[in-house]
Amino acid sequence: MSDLSRRDLLRTSAAAGVGAVVVSGLTAADTPDIADAGAPGYVTAGDPSKSPGCPPATLTGHIVRPCDASYTDARLGWDQLFSHYPLVIVFAQETQDVVNALTWARQHNVALRVRSGRHALEGWSNVDNGIVIDVSQLKSIQIDTGAHTATVGAGLTQLEAVTTLAKQNLAITTGSEGSVSACGATLGGGLGPLNRWLGMACDSLVAAEVVIPSGDDCAEVINADSQHHSDLLWALRGAGNGNFGIVTQLTYKVSPLTRLANMQATWNGLGDLYEVFEAWQRTVPSADSRLGSELEIHKSQIQLSAWLVEGVAAQAREILAPILSVGTPDVTVQVGNWGDIFAGAQIPLAQEPANWKFFSQFVKEPLPKKAIDIIGSFMRDAPTEESNYFVDAFGGAVANEPRGGTAFVHRDALFYGEIGAAWGTRSTQPGVSDPLTPQAQAWIAEFSQALRPYTDGAYVNVPNVGMQEWETAYWGRQHFEQLRRIKAKYDPHNVFQYEQSIPPASH
Ligand SMILES: Cc1cc2nc3c(=O)[nH]c(=O)nc-3n(C[C@H](O)[C@H](O)[C@H](O)COP(=O)(O)OP(=O)(O)OC[C@H]3O[C@@H](n4cnc5c(N)ncnc54)[C@H](O)[C@@H]3O)c2cc1C
Repeated sequence: MSDLSRRDLLRTSAAAGVGAVVVSGLTAADTPDIADAGAPGYVTAGDPSKSPGCPPATLTGHIVRPCDASYTDARLGWDQLFSHYPLVIVFAQETQDVVNALTWARQHNVALRVRSGRHALEGWSNVDNGIVIDVSQLKSIQIDTGAHTATVGAGLTQLEAVTTLAKQNLAITTGSEGSVSACGATLGGGLGPLNRWLGMACDSLVAAEVVIPSGDDCAEVINADSQHHSDLLWALRGAGNGNFGIVTQLTYKVSPLTRLANMQATWNGLGDLYEVFEAWQRTVPSADSRLGSELEIHKSQIQLSAWLVEGVAAQAREILAPILSVGTPDVTVQVGNWGDIFAGAQIPLAQEPANWKFFSQFVKEPLPKKAIDIIGSFMRDAPTEESNYFVDAFGGAVANEPRGGTAFVHRDALFYGEIGAAWGTRSTQPGVSDPLTPQAQAWIAEFSQALRPYTDGAYVNVPNVGMQEWETAYWGRQHFEQLRRIKAKYDPHNVFQYEQSIPPASH
C-alpha cells in the first residue's frame, strides 16, 4: 500500500467498484476537506501550489455532500443492486460548472464519474469517495427546423426528448425507457423502436459539446463535429460513455414523423415460443425498414411490440402476419403521435423491481431450435415474472453507417438479445442483501453461458462484467485500437477511468 500514491489509491478504489464507503487504507483525513467549505453550495480548492497549470478551482452548481438531507436521493441510481457513497455530487447548472468540477477533481486527485440518467447497469456512473459530475439538470433543447437538427442538453431524458420533438412532428432514435438519458443511450449506440428506420441513435449525432481534460490539471470545452475533432465525434458515436470527456450538449439530425402505428401482441404461456420466435427472426429483420420490433419473453408470456412509421393498423397486421398467425395472441393496435404513444408506455418507477442484472449479446444468424429451446427452458425457471429475454430487431437503416462512420460496430447483426434478471422491492438498502440475489445472479450467468455458441459480440450500453475480451466484444479489435489512440489524444492522463473504460494507447 505504501508505494501507491494517493492518486493511485483513489483511482484504484474507483476502478475496483467496491460497494461500500470503506476503502482499505483510505481515511476521511485523506480526502479533500469539503465539510468546511465556505458558502453553502460552493466548495473551494485549498492548495494553490498543487495547480501550477490553472487557477485553483471552485466547485459550482448545486452541490450535495454526505451531510446533506438530499444525499441519499442524490446518490442512488436506478439499479439498486449497486450502491455507492461519493464524497460529493455536483449537479451542473451550466457547462462552466462541469469545467470547474473536472478541474477541481484533477487538482485534488479525486476519482470521478460522469452521470446523467443514472441507468448505468453496473453502477459505473457513481463512485465511492469520489466526485460525481451530474449533468442531469442540463435540460435545454433548441430545434432548428431549417437545418433539421435539435441541440439538446446532456440531461434530457429520452421521454423529454421524444415528447418535445414529437410536438413538432420530429423524431430521433431512442430506447423505449423514458427515464434513461438520451445522452447516455446515444454515447453507447442507442437502439430502440425506430432503429430500423433511422439507424442507431449515435448515427444521428452530428455534433457535441464536450468538456475534456487539458494540461496537467485543467479542463476545457471543445466542440466535436465533422469539421472539428471529427475523430472524437466518431468515438462518441458508440464509445463515449465516461471515456473521453463529459458531454454537455448533443446535436442530432432529426427526421419528420407525423404518426406511427404501434402493435402489441401477447401470447399466454411459452407453448408457442418456438413458432413465434422463428417467425419473428425470419420476418422482421428483413421487413420494410419503417418497421421496428421487439420481443420480450417472460416466465408466463410472450410480448411482441412493433412500430410502423407513418403506418396504419392494417399495414402493420399484414407485415406481421407470419407471427400473428401463430396461436391466439391478444392484439391491440394504436395509431397516433409518437410522443403520446411513447409516454403512454412508461411504467412508474415505484412499480419496477429494485435490482437488475443484464447480459447483452448480438445474434448474427437465426437461432436454431436448440437455442430457442434454451431460452424457453431458462425463462420457465426465471427468478421472477419481471425477468425477461429481450430482442430488438436490426437490419434496415442499422446496417448503414452514417457519413464519418461510428465506433458502433454491430452493423451486421440480425438482432440484439438481452437477458435481464429483475427482483426485489425498492428501498435505500443495496440489493446485494436481498435473499434472491444469488439465485438471480446464478441464473443469468448460466443462461448467458448456454447461449454463447449462438451469439457474437456485446453491447457496451449493457456491459457484461467479467467477460473475457470485452473490448473486442463491444467494438471489434480494429475499432478498439483506434479508440485507444483517440483516448491518448483527448485524455492522455486517463482521467476518465472505470472497470471497463478504454485505456489510452501507449506511444
Ligand atoms: C431500464 C433500462 C432500459 C434500457 N433500454 C435501453 C434501450 O432500449 N436501448 C438502449 O440502447 N439502451 C437501453 N438501456 C441502456 C442505457 O442506454 C445505458 O444504460 C445508458 O448508458 C444509460 O445512460 P444514463 O445517462 O441514463 O445513465 P448514467 O448512469 O447516468 O450513465 C451511463 C454511462 O454513461 C456515462 N455518461 C453519462 N452521461 C455522460 C456524459 N454527459 N458524458 C459522458 N459520459 C456520460 C456514465 O459515466 C456511465 O458510464 C437501458 C437501460 C435500462 C436501465
